[in-house]
Amino acid sequence: MSTSENASETTQTAAAADAVEKTEDQWRAELSPAEYHVLRQAGTERPYTGEYTDTHTKGVYQCRACGHELFTSNEKFDSHCGWPSFWSPLAEERVRYIRDRAMGMERVEVRCARCNSHLGHVFEGEGYGTPTDQRYCINSISMKLVPEE
Ligand SMILES: [Zn+2]
Repeated sequence: MSTSENASETTQTAAAADAVEKTEDQWRAELSPAEYHVLRQAGTERPYTGEYTDTHTKGVYQCRACGHELFTSNEKFDSHCGWPSFWSPLAEERVRYIRDRAMGMERVEVRCARCNSHLGHVFEGEGYGTPTDQRYCINSISMKLVPEE
């Protein structure tokens, strides 16, 4: 995917300057049906089926829709919940949060800050003993791991 938009203009905030906006038709054409379902329709892959659930490879996890760097292997931990889990994003501004009360309990959806694609949810206070006590429960199919050289 091209990242060669005009990089000349004056520097605005990073998120606004490189925001990726596409129509749903464009996304549908670029993504596989399974990717589209999760990333653009906030679907959830079945637990223990994603390719990165138990991955310990060192590297950076990018957004599969736009290539934005979202998480690193340094914050990934073994939650045994069936999805890749992180205790923090690479940086707070890499993701955005949407509160969701659909099921009578509040959940916090996590989206890519650059292209607004669905990544997963973040949960708090579960006692995992990580530095933040948060669990970013992220669909493997929403990410692409770029292994460290
Ligand atoms: Zn993205």
